[in-house]
Amino acid sequence: MEELNHFLENSREEIQKANDLRALDSLRVLYLGKKGEVTQLLKKLSEIPENQRAAEGKRVNLLKNELKKLIEARKKELHELEIEERLVEEKIDVTLPGRRSGSGGLHPITRTIERMEDFFVSLGFEVVEGPEIEDDYHNFGALNIPEHHPARAMHDTFYINSSSVLRTHTSPVQVRVMENRKPPLRVICPGRVYRCDSDLTHSPMFHQVEGLFIDQRCSLGQLKGLIQDFLQSFFEKEDLSVRFRPSYFPFTEPSAEVDIQCVKCSGEGCRICSRTGWLEVMGCGMVNPKVFDNCGIDRNRFSGFAFGMGVERLAMLRYGINDLRLNFDNDLRFLSQFS
Ligand SMILES: [Zn+2]
Repeated sequence: MEELNHFLENSREEIQKANDLRALDSLRVLYLGKKGEVTQLLKKLSEIPENQRAAEGKRVNLLKNELKKLIEARKKELHELEIEERLVEEKIDVTLPGRRSGSGGLHPITRTIERMEDFFVSLGFEVVEGPEIEDDYHNFGALNIPEHHPARAMHDTFYINSSSVLRTHTSPVQVRVMENRKPPLRVICPGRVYRCDSDLTHSPMFHQVEGLFIDQRCSLGQLKGLIQDFLQSFFEKEDLSVRFRPSYFPFTEPSAEVDIQCVKCSGEGCRICSRTGWLEVMGCGMVNPKVFDNCGIDRNRFSGFAFGMGVERLAMLRYGINDLRLNFDNDLRFLSQFS
């Protein structure tokens, strides 16, 4: 009996010392497992004289139950300890500043197109889009650029086959509008255009916004006023100087190229404007009556003007982007500056 008491005391200490569930389970196996010490004691009962066996058996069973209880109790303690430790470990410091989730932004080219659209829509223009794969006639012929016309050399064209091209400008959209609607017309046509040209300042795909205005009385003065208002509004500079230089386009007559005072040096002369103080930003002119003939508009009743600009160029000037390729690299460090 003394031996059993001693064993129980020892076991109690050992069980209290077990500081994780695995150690505790090893003890359980050691005492109560198939080959455990208590099991051995029960087996030995058969060796005891029969008259003492019942009493001895009772004691061993009491010991067994006591051990079970001790182990269960310790197990519960360890569980609680573990939960407490996890609570401390996984505690959330609610005083830490949160991590912001970045919200996306519109691409500078998209923003620029929307900015252009907003201006013209506020003046009653309608936004019209058209196909990027065009037939030769709509891209060239209808616009007074017949085959073998030298102006075709100005457009390094991607031919899909002998009669289809990737449009080299958004002017064919205007042709489609003129063919399908009756004047008066006020439309602007934004979209992608393609030219077989790629270097530091040219990319094979870029964006244009072109506009067309047709009415019974239409003058170069109106065109000048509109373009000047647009550019001053676009660059948010009321006193921005704008000048028109005579130029040539097959689809307008007369034609002009439009310069603005350099936005970087304000006309002093810098690297961006090649020391001239001026930046070329768009082309425009009065619609060539031959184009009206091609599109079924009465040249004696109506006149009109058209203008077109490269979106990348204007976006770069407005935002101070110095490399055309940044527009197409999709580099988040660049794009996130516009969000
Ligand atoms: Zn300059």
